[in-house]
Amino acid sequence: MSVYRILHYPHVLLRKKSLPVVSFGPDLKTFAEHMTSTMYAFEGIGLAAPQVGILRRFIVVDVKTYLESEDLKDWHGTISLTIDGKPMPLAFPLSLVNPEIVRHEGEVEFPFDGCLSFPGVSKGGTRRYKFIELHAKTVDGKPIVLACDGIMSICLQHELDHLEGVLFIDHLKESADEDEVVEEIHDAEDDPATRKKLKKLKLVDARNEKFSF
Ligand SMILES: [Zn+2]
Repeated sequence: MSVYRILHYPHVLLRKKSLPVVSFGPDLKTFAEHMTSTMYAFEGIGLAAPQVGILRRFIVVDVKTYLESEDLKDWHGTISLTIDGKPMPLAFPLSLVNPEIVRHEGEVEFPFDGCLSFPGVSKGGTRRYKFIELHAKTVDGKPIVLACDGIMSICLQHELDHLEGVLFIDHLKESADEDEVVEEIHDAEDDPATRKKLKKLKLVDARNEKFSF
């Protein structure tokens, strides 16, 4: 299983709009597997295709650790999942193809937010919808409906933003200092322990895979 190199801010591709996935073949399934292993290798709770340089509307999420954390009890929320019209028990990781928010209610301010494209950066006060209903497809092309609030809703909104070239720093109540953010990322990149870890992972550039989906 490959682990992809994640693009860091301010990489130009992070600001591009992604195109819909059009082919639900084996390439998409392989990409989904590698995206999932990349998310886990970097200990993220979500990852969007443009973060590895692929401008397609695809995300993976796994908020299980957050849903099990007592400290985040107030953000557990409720999640309902339907696949192909049938209610399903929630299972992670979830791969979502061409996801779109079809309905939203309320607003919340999330006390901390971060992103795998912003290593070493954590900011509080991102404004998000409280509740969302999201429609997407599985990698097999089956329709998925997710209705949720809490951390799952926050995470999905964060990942969907990536497909529009929108980043979490755009949602801060008080705008972040651009130079400070870039400096924090450089510091994290230069950390010897991180460098050692990355070397071990033998990262692959997803853009060299020549996938078609
Ligand atoms: Zn992100």
